[in-house]
Amino acid sequence: MDEFDVIVVGGGSGGSAAAGRLAEAGKSVCLLEAGGRNDTFKVKTPAMLAFTNEKTNYRYETVPQKGLNGRPGYQPRGRGLGGSSAINAMIYIRGNAWDYDNWAELGCTGWSYEDVLPYFKRSEHNVRGDDAFHGDDGPLWVSDQKYVNPGSFAFVEAAAQLQLPRNTDFNGADQKGFGIYQVTQKDGERWSASRAYVEPLRRSSKLDIRIGVTVKKLEIENGRVTGVTYSVGKRERTVRARGGVVLSAGAFNSPQILMLSGIGPAAHLREHGIDVAVDKPAVGSDLQDHIDYVSSWQTESRDFFGSSLEGTLRMARALVEHRRRGTGIASTPYAEAGGFWTVMPDAPAPDVQWHFVPAMLEDHGRTKVKGHGFSLHACVLRPESRGTVRLDSREASDAPRIDPNFLDDERDIATLREGVRLSHRIVSSPSLARYEPQDRYPVDLDDDAQLDDLIRNRADTVYHPVGTCRMGADEDAVVDQKLKARGLDGLWIADASIMPRLVSGNTNAPSIMIGERCADFVAAALAA
Ligand SMILES: Cc1cc2nc3c(=O)[nH]c(=O)nc-3n(C[C@H](O)[C@H](O)[C@H](O)COP(=O)(O)OP(=O)(O)OC[C@H]3O[C@@H](n4cnc5c(N)ncnc54)[C@H](O)[C@@H]3O)c2cc1C
Repeated sequence: MDEFDVIVVGGGSGGSAAAGRLAEAGKSVCLLEAGGRNDTFKVKTPAMLAFTNEKTNYRYETVPQKGLNGRPGYQPRGRGLGGSSAINAMIYIRGNAWDYDNWAELGCTGWSYEDVLPYFKRSEHNVRGDDAFHGDDGPLWVSDQKYVNPGSFAFVEAAAQLQLPRNTDFNGADQKGFGIYQVTQKDGERWSASRAYVEPLRRSSKLDIRIGVTVKKLEIENGRVTGVTYSVGKRERTVRARGGVVLSAGAFNSPQILMLSGIGPAAHLREHGIDVAVDKPAVGSDLQDHIDYVSSWQTESRDFFGSSLEGTLRMARALVEHRRRGTGIASTPYAEAGGFWTVMPDAPAPDVQWHFVPAMLEDHGRTKVKGHGFSLHACVLRPESRGTVRLDSREASDAPRIDPNFLDDERDIATLREGVRLSHRIVSSPSLARYEPQDRYPVDLDDDAQLDDLIRNRADTVYHPVGTCRMGADEDAVVDQKLKARGLDGLWIADASIMPRLVSGNTNAPSIMIGERCADFVAAALAA
C-alpha cells in the first residue's frame, strides 16, 4: 500500500516549504509534482529566465479582458520542483506590514505582521546577517546582487533627484522608497524553494519525491480527504494519506484540483458533470493580481542590455564567467532595482511598486526588440478588481479558465495612471535623462483618456495571482486561519491561493512563509 503521513500536491514555493519542514519534523511525506526536477543550468542561471519553455512554464492565457480592450493576458506559471520560484525574477520582497495587520483585521487571527515575521525570519538566510527583521540561518538564501547594471543605479539616483527616498532594505522597518532589490540567489545562482527545502532532503527516507505526475483529484471518504489520484503517462495511481493532504498547486491549479474533486461552486461543477462533495462558491473566486504597465525607452547607450551583436557577445561571455565564478551579468534578475510609493490620497501604505529593467521589454520578453534601452514597470499593489478561475474541462492537464477581470474597477486604472505618470517623471530626472531616452510609446501624460487607452492596450500581469482559495474566519472561506479546508477533514492548502488580500509586493517569500506555517499547523494537528 502506497501510504504516507502527509501527501503534498505541488512542489512550488508553498509546497516545497511545507513538504521539507514536515519531513524534517519526522513525518513521512510524499511530494507530487507535475513537472521535472528543474536542476539544469538553464534554471540555475538567473539571466536564463528569459528562456523558459513548456517543460518549466505552463504559459497560461487568460480569457479576453474587457478592461484590456479585449486582449487576453499571459500568465506564466512555473512547472517542476520549485514551481514559479524556478522561473521567477528572484526579487525578495515580503509585502508591507500593513497587509498582514489587515489580514488579521479581516478575521485572520494569527496572521498579523507580528505573527508572520518570525516565519519570514525562520525561512531566511540573508547574507547581510540577522537583525530584528531578518534571519541568517534559514534555508532560503537572500543575497545582494552580484552584478548591477549602471542604468539601475542611475534609476535609483533619478528617483532621489525627485526627493523620493532611497531604501536599502524594503523588508526592514519601512518599505517605501527606491533602491536595488535583494534576490533569492546563492553565490549568483537562483535559489528556488525546492533548492532551499527539498533538495537537501533528496536522500531522506522521510521524503518521497515523485516528479512527472499530474494530480487528477483528491480522494474523499465520509467528509475526509484520504489520498489523491494522479496520472503518470497513461497510468493512474492512488496514494493514501494517514494524516492528510496539503494542496499547493498554486493560485490557478489548487482551485482547479478542488473543483475536479467536487469542491467548488455547485452549479459550475454540475455543468461539467462533476458530483458535488462540498458546495463552496469561494473556490476559484476572489482572484486578485498585480496589473502592471511597462513603460519603455530606447537609448544610444549600450550600457543597457540589448539585442545587438555587442549585446549578444556580452551575454555569451557572461555565461562563461557565470559558469566559472557565479558572477557577472548572467546573474542579473533583470528587474534589478525598483521601489514603493504612494500615489493616491488616503492609501494606508505604498500603492504602486516599480521594477526597473535595464533592457527594452516587450510582451513579457516574448517579442525581442532590436537595440538597447530600459523599461520601467509600475503596478497597482492592492487592486480592487476581482476575477475567477473556473474549469474548461475535466482534465487536470488542461489549462483552467482564468479571468483576472483586470481594470474592472475604476480605482485600479486611476492608481495605475498616477503610477505611470511618476514613471515618466523619474525618467525625466537628470540621472536618466542624460541617456537621452526615446519613449517607445509616447503619450500626452496630461490627457487621462489617451493615457488610459494606452494602458488598456498594453498593461498585463506582473505575475502575482492570489486569493482563489481564500483564508477567512467566515464559513464561506475555503480555509480557516490554520489553513485547514472548511467543510472537509484531512485537507490543508499552502500556496498563494489562500491570501485573503494580495500583499503589497512580490509573492514568492509570502508563499514560502505560508508553506512554513502550514507545516506547523499540520504537524500540530497530527500530534493532537
Ligand atoms: C515569471 C514570474 C516572475 C515572478 N517574479 C517574482 C519575483 O521576482 N519575486 C517574487 O517574490 N515573486 C515572483 N513571482 C511570483 C512567485 O514566484 C509566485 O507567487 C510563487 O512562486 C507562487 O507559489 P505557489 O506555491 O503558490 O505556486 P507555484 O510556485 O506556482 O507552485 C505550484 C506547483 O504545483 C504544481 N502543480 C500544479 N498543478 C499540479 C497537478 N495537477 N499535479 C501536480 N503538480 C501540480 C506546479 O507544477 C508547480 O510546481 C513571479 C512569478 C512568475 C511566473
